[in-house]
Amino acid sequence: MERMAEAKKQQKEVVITLNGVELVIPPGARVKDVAAAAGVEIPALKVDPEKCKGCQMCTKACETGAISGNKKEPHSIDQALCIRCGECLAKCKLGAIVPA
Ligand code: SF4
Ligand code: SF4
Repeated sequence: MERMAEAKKQQKEVVITLNGVELVIPPGARVKDVAAAAGVEIPALKVDPEKCKGCQMCTKACETGAISGNKKEPHSIDQALCIRCGECLAKCKLGAIVPA
């Protein structure tokens, strides 16, 4: 039970800013759906090596395997694999994923 309570506590909404528009992503919602509802197009994305700490939260969230990199080192996005779903934006707490 304690674990479930903890898991629920961690499921907070995430706020991201895209093209100057603030998007509130509720737990379980898809970033692309929230963006589409707000009329915001998800741009091509890249990782800012100055900000990325290699925590790998984004790689776990990326369904296409577009993000790669060693732990604790700056990651990168393979544009050929990225489908611009935006899920990585919601996972990166350091704001290291930015428009390409
Ligand atoms: S936008 Fe989607 S497909 Fe592209 S890198 Fe991020 S999580 Fe992966
Ligand atoms: S979530 Fe952000 S800091 Fe962590 S590896 Fe991905 S881009 Fe880097």
